[in-house]
Amino acid sequence: MVSKLQIAVIEGDGIGVDVTQATIAVMEEATKSVGGFTLSYNAIAAGAGYYRETGVDIEPGGEDACGEADAILLGAIGLPSVRYDNGTEISPHLRLREKFQLYAGIRPVKAYPNSVQKLADPRAADIDLIILRESTEGLFYSAAVHNRSQIIEDVEVCDTLKITRATTEKLHHFAFKLAQKRKQRGGKGQVTCVDKANVFNSMAFFRKIYDEIAPEYPDIQTGYNYVDAQALDLIRKPWDFDVLVMENMFGDILSDLAGGLVGGMGMASCAEIGDVIGLFQPAHGSAPDIMGKDAANPLAAILSGALMLDYLGEKTGIQALSDAAEKIDSAVATGFAENQIHPMEFGGNMGTKAVTNTVIDIVRR
Ligand code: ATP
Repeated sequence: MVSKLQIAVIEGDGIGVDVTQATIAVMEEATKSVGGFTLSYNAIAAGAGYYRETGVDIEPGGEDACGEADAILLGAIGLPSVRYDNGTEISPHLRLREKFQLYAGIRPVKAYPNSVQKLADPRAADIDLIILRESTEGLFYSAAVHNRSQIIEDVEVCDTLKITRATTEKLHHFAFKLAQKRKQRGGKGQVTCVDKANVFNSMAFFRKIYDEIAPEYPDIQTGYNYVDAQALDLIRKPWDFDVLVMENMFGDILSDLAGGLVGGMGMASCAEIGDVIGLFQPAHGSAPDIMGKDAANPLAAILSGALMLDYLGEKTGIQALSDAAEKIDSAVATGFAENQIHPMEFGGNMGTKAVTNTVIDIVRR
């Protein structure tokens, strides 16, 4: 029997449109090649362009439609010239993160052969880690969009860093299970708790819960790093790490730092997973400077599509979905290993379509 999965698709703005179409084209090829399931796509209009036309940032019923899908695929949202009345950028996806409590933010950081490596040390070729960023609380609990800061006129502003037991338990379990899955695929089998437990009560609590949960996963190595030392270690020896679990703001900062080690935003894939649904999108924005030029690197989006298929494989128990994810991942790795992928982002001559077609050709082999 062929299983049907439904994907809510928000292409969004700028290069979001091109990279989403590239991702769907690659996923369709992988689906064809593996068989056993089909994907149907429910396009949902949202973003800055849509807001400019209609005065609302997502189509009526769009949020609920996302919730009814098996997963959400998103391109990029926002244009600097289009703002809400309060001056902030259009961001319906942040409401989706809140609405569906997408607490587990996965940011893979992997070095591909013949691709960008910013560190001269030859061991940089072995970088393969995940920044697991809690994405619903931490210091972002007070993000301006939530309106929770304590503001004393023009004199004092206090933001709150919130850590709850319920979310942190789920996060740490997620981290250890992720390390187990990566170990089965040849990974190191290690989770490092990144915190500032020497200074903040909230961070000591975060580590305490990590310590409570770690013994349930005796096959996984544990470790700790203060966030400042972790920043240093991401430059000194990033090849030593596997899964790094941390609070929201730390993850926001370190994921960009780590992503910079292995290329640009065009390689930065991202998954945001909650208890009932996951949202998958490249970590980059709409890049208005290169929109409409066929210049965007679609690999961050394509690799996010692979994360989505892998998530769906686990969610449904359908092995073919995980196989399709693996097919896309290894096509990207093969493309670099065979020196066939040269995105314009890294000074190459291949635009969005050429990179996409190359990945499709390899998936088809
Ligand atoms: P946001 O705040 O929404 O993340 P931003 O303007 O800070 O947006 P991006 O839109 O990600 O960040 O763009 C930052 C820079 O990276 C731009 O110069 C852009 O051209 C480049 N860039 C981003 N994504 C890609 C991509 N997929 N391929 C090539 N270059 C990219």
